Amino acid sequence: MAAVHLLNADLHCHSVHSDGSLPPDELARLAHAGGVQLWSLTDHDELAGQHAARAAAEALGLAYVCGVEVSISFLGETVHVLGLDVDPDHPGLNAGLARLRAGREQRAREMGESLARVGIHGAYEGARRYAGNPDLVSRTHFARFLVEHGHCASVHEVFQRYLKEGLPGFVPHHWAALGEAMQWIRDAGGLPVLAHPARYRFSPTEEWALFHEFVGHGGVGVEVTCGAHFPDEATRYAATAEEFGLLASRGSDFHAPGESRVAPGELPDLPARCTAVWTRWADRLQHLRPAAELA
Ligand code: AMP
Ligand code: MN
Ligand code: MN
Ligand code: MN
Repeated sequence: MAAVHLLNADLHCHSVHSDGSLPPDELARLAHAGGVQLWSLTDHDELAGQHAARAAAEALGLAYVCGVEVSISFLGETVHVLGLDVDPDHPGLNAGLARLRAGREQRAREMGESLARVGIHGAYEGARRYAGNPDLVSRTHFARFLVEHGHCASVHEVFQRYLKEGLPGFVPHHWAALGEAMQWIRDAGGLPVLAHPARYRFSPTEEWALFHEFVGHGGVGVEVTCGAHFPDEATRYAATAEEFGLLASRGSDFHAPGESRVAPGELPDLPARCTAVWTRWADRLQHLRPAAELA
């Protein structure tokens, strides 16, 4: 078990099928070059890249589990739940995700109108040009367009000035309910993992409610070490994982070279007190030697 626990696992990243900039096969090469031993591509609300990701990973000798990052509305906030090791062809999961993608079109048009009211024109059409998947226009594509047109110096600055709640380009949206999204993941054979918990703006009571309901709906894991967490946040959520009996996950949330803080595989190990979510797949991973031994 200890050997499997210490694998270099990266179970969160994005391709051109959502808001990443690279196709799945290039991501697989980047992950492999970065020392990743177990990888999952987890596009937002989309499974279209899964077969290509698996094929590319297997050609490189990289262990792979199919994944997805599902958009959820919970207590007025957007929450992300990863579905790891899902069947990418499961009809129920695909139908649920198709519904979420369909809702993005109207939201994107409204975001364009909202930005036009503050003098930024053509943002909807511009964002669509950046979207590798026409069904999945995300805030990230708007951000890239605004940077290209000189409105801001970086994607991060666009979010700070335009794309967060209360700002001119933000349009509130209803994503999936927590229970239904977790049902889709579980029906497709996947493990629900709560993504980047430190990034939600919940009070302690609301956060407790999120974890409580997540566990109640069959939640299995929580991201502890991830690109969106600072080291003290990883420590804090290692304790939360223990409190709620959850396994711990690790993922870079990589989107694009030059844009993401952390490259695939570049994260610290999980805190020692955690049990890794991938111990659930230990029978499939026994042939891999821990990263520490390879170094
Ligand atoms: P959407 O699903 O269209 O609402 O877009 C959400 C995506 O925006 C996230 O998955 C991140 O990739 C990106 N994002 C959110 N907040 C920030 C931020 N502060 N800086 C950079 N990217 C962000
Ligand atoms: Mn994203
Ligand atoms: Mn996310
Ligand atoms: Mn993500």
